[in-house]
Amino acid sequence: MSDCIFCKIIAGDIPAHKVYEDDLVLAFLDIAPITKGHTLVIPKIHQESISAVPSEYQHRILEISSKIGKAFVRTQEYDGFNLHLNNGQCAGQVVPHAHMHVVPRIGTDGFHWNWRNLEYKENEIEELLSKFNEKFSAS
Ligand code: 5GP
Ligand code: ZN
Repeated sequence: MSDCIFCKIIAGDIPAHKVYEDDLVLAFLDIAPITKGHTLVIPKIHQESISAVPSEYQHRILEISSKIGKAFVRTQEYDGFNLHLNNGQCAGQVVPHAHMHVVPRIGTDGFHWNWRNLEYKENEIEELLSKFNEKFSAS
């Protein structure tokens, strides 16, 4: 898509520090990293939602994201990594081209996910899963 910033990076019209590239995916350093080494892994086709990305691209994104995280850990600068994907504006997606965040981590990096822990009311799980099961299809 011509006005997509990540499509422009794929096309080479905007510079980026490439971490990895193959026929299906491109990985490059995030311009405003959570930790040093924070990398984005994107499919080489324009789709806003990860759900619309063909499965061979989805598989490659996960495979490469995990390999990139492992390589950063092997540098001995990090102890682990987060894989994080914002899907939809309400979920924090800003760039409308599906992308996986690989965030190398060390216990002293000072970053904390703003996690919370809700509780389910009575019957809420059954109602939720009943609606979900009506819509879920593995194919
Ligand atoms: P989102 O919030 O959509 O999941 O994340 C978008 C990410 O893209 C952000 O972490 C942001 O820093 C990064 N980003 C936005 N524009 C550019 C850019 O032009 N170049 C690079 N390398 N990263 C970008
Ligand atoms: Zn795009």
